[in-house]
Amino acid sequence: MSKAGLYVHFPFCRRACFYCHFFKRRHRPAPVGDYLARLQGEMLLRRDPALEVDTVYFGGGSPSLLDAGQISRQLDAAAKHFGLASRAEVTLEANPEDLSPPLLKELRSAGINRLSVGAQSFQERDLRFLRRTHDATQAIQSLTLAREAGFRNISVDLIIGLPSQTAGSMEANFRAVAALAPAHVSVYILENVPRPAADERDARLYFQARQALLDLGFEHYEVSNFCRPGRASRHNLKYWRMEP
Ligand code: SF4
Repeated sequence: MSKAGLYVHFPFCRRACFYCHFFKRRHRPAPVGDYLARLQGEMLLRRDPALEVDTVYFGGGSPSLLDAGQISRQLDAAAKHFGLASRAEVTLEANPEDLSPPLLKELRSAGINRLSVGAQSFQERDLRFLRRTHDATQAIQSLTLAREAGFRNISVDLIIGLPSQTAGSMEANFRAVAALAPAHVSVYILENVPRPAADERDARLYFQARQALLDLGFEHYEVSNFCRPGRASRHNLKYWRMEP
């Protein structure tokens, strides 16, 4: 049986972030319901009993706006139309402000075993620049709550290249990473926002981030991605290996 990864896109957000170029629409119950029904229809169209899905990635948009029932139904459809491996890596991208203890508990029972948390930064100035709807305390708290809920495979997204960032604020961010001890960190460079001398500055911040993560024991396994040994995103690797 061939193995495959399944990416489930959820293109709905509470509001549009000015720097984001992903396709998205405002989160409203009616279009979300229609969209989820069509996703299941899409799985039926692509049904292949010879394929076994061993990684699932709920990305967005803001898939942490899904409830556990909606996630379970998508996973049931994947299991029905393809077969879902018993030890599949099942990731959900989450905004920190969505991760309450009850939701975390529900996500785990729905089958999510990996969280990718869009912290972006642990510095208030950076989060204000990005006009995020969470603050630094929520970013830290969401990761602590996820761990307390039993998640062991947690990734943190950070954005670099913000005008508010300095070498010192970056150091503070990586001290927070050291304290929170995620299994995986993704470091993305800010795009779509013109900034003076951006290339040189972004390169400097990127190499500072890279060195800080190597010093913390992370492996640099892909352009933007760093992991603890053995904790590379199995789903992410499929793209680089051109797997189904
Ligand atoms: S929440 Fe994420 S996907 Fe949605 S607009 Fe903001 S950055 Fe883009």
